[in-house]
Amino acid sequence: LSSATQKQPIAIYQESAQSEVLERIRLESELRIAIDQKALAVYYQPQVCTKTQKIVSAEALIRWPHPERGLVSPGIFIPVAEKAGLINDIGLLVVEKVLATLDTLEGNGTAIPISVNIATEHFLADGFLGQMNTLMSKHNDSLAKFVKLELTESTFLDDKESVNTVMQSLRTMGMKISLDDFGTGYSALSYLFQLPIDQLKIDKSFVDALEQDGRAQSIMSHIIALAHDLGFEVVVEGVETQEQSEWVSAANADLIQGFLYYKPLPYKEFIAALQQ
Ligand code: C2E
Ligand code: MG
Ligand code: MG
Ligand code: MG
Repeated sequence: LSSATQKQPIAIYQESAQSEVLERIRLESELRIAIDQKALAVYYQPQVCTKTQKIVSAEALIRWPHPERGLVSPGIFIPVAEKAGLINDIGLLVVEKVLATLDTLEGNGTAIPISVNIATEHFLADGFLGQMNTLMSKHNDSLAKFVKLELTESTFLDDKESVNTVMQSLRTMGMKISLDDFGTGYSALSYLFQLPIDQLKIDKSFVDALEQDGRAQSIMSHIIALAHDLGFEVVVEGVETQEQSEWVSAANADLIQGFLYYKPLPYKEFIAALQQ
């Protein structure tokens, strides 16, 4: 091999690695601008009661309407935001928008609990409680009971004392706490269930396994029973078929969030769905 052909792959590799870096930097600076301009959109995915099939609550899910890229999903830009130190600003933006939505809903008597995803880093940041207080102070105190914060297991792996303290303060304010994506991490029942949470969200991966795997069925129904024993509400995420819905309802889950009922909806469609 000549030295030129030997070098070529390296040159190509460097070029693509370089363009990846450039791409990330571009995405990051565009995201920064979008956050500054509050140009991120909040979508709402309704959660239905397993007994009545009616909408009883919803989850706020962020989207980035990008001029060239279209509607960018959080799976793409949340990791970028986390690396770039922008995740706390996104959390604040979503809480702010959700509070405005709740204000409107309360005004016409249709307020329902709305969940907001909070990144571990944000939840554990020194200023988090103060930020929540500041945002809440712009609204009627009665709105707090409609605000639910979704945390993932990684939040609870941190110093238990301080996590507990923050959670207790939020609950004193009237907010609720939900544990998201249950079943995807370590899920050490022994300590997770010592935490003051209100709701458990069982991850889509469990629902996907129900059909082929008898053990998944057994685990799911026992988790639901255990969660109920401990006084938690149970949401099952990612229900896409009628069979899954029936199974999950028979297993006594309280709420279903899934494409079978609703996809995440833009604000106006969400409001329309609530009025039906
Ligand atoms: P998550 O919090 O577990 O949200 C549920 C995800 O499952 C959403 O994806 C939702 O659209 C999707 N989903 C719900 N039902 C179904 C279904 O039946 N089938 C399928 N295939 N998917 C379903 P989305 O909106 O793309 O969000 C992905 C993740 O991005 C979220 O997972 C959450 O971890 C993160 N995320 C979204 N919004 C925010 C936010 O405002 N802040 C932060 N920190 N993270 C967010
Ligand atoms: Mg969530
Ligand atoms: Mg989830
Ligand atoms: Mg998630």
